[in-house]
Amino acid sequence: MTQQLLKNRRLPSDRPATVTFYDYCSKGELRFQACADCGEFRHPPRPMCPHCNSQNIEWKAVKGTGTLYTWTIVVQALDKILVDDVPIIVGIVELDEGPRQAAWILGVAEEDLRVGMKLKVSFEAVTDKVALPQFSPA
Ligand SMILES: [Zn+2]
Repeated sequence: MTQQLLKNRRLPSDRPATVTFYDYCSKGELRFQACADCGEFRHPPRPMCPHCNSQNIEWKAVKGTGTLYTWTIVVQALDKILVDDVPIIVGIVELDEGPRQAAWILGVAEEDLRVGMKLKVSFEAVTDKVALPQFSPA
């Protein structure tokens, strides 16, 4: 079953790092917080680098391509806002550059899902400052 795009979504939190992530998404860019000293990604965002303890931050762009690491299929809408959208495929996508992002997987039948399948990002604008990354077959 192919999924529909959802028009009503709950907005992400308004924590500063979260706002920055979704603001880049609203510009069509997938960027992850990274250490400005050693270059390692910090995703989910956090104040200190787990590799070198630096508190210096940069936002590194990634290409938006990756592979399906794992997934689950949500069949029961625990939030009434999702009633018209179940079943929803929620995947963990491993970006080619390394970080993993949870997102909806669209445009693929449940029986065709495979670990390692190639995916590419697209963005669904939900406000003028927030777009949600989602992935479909590359
Ligand atoms: Zn570091």
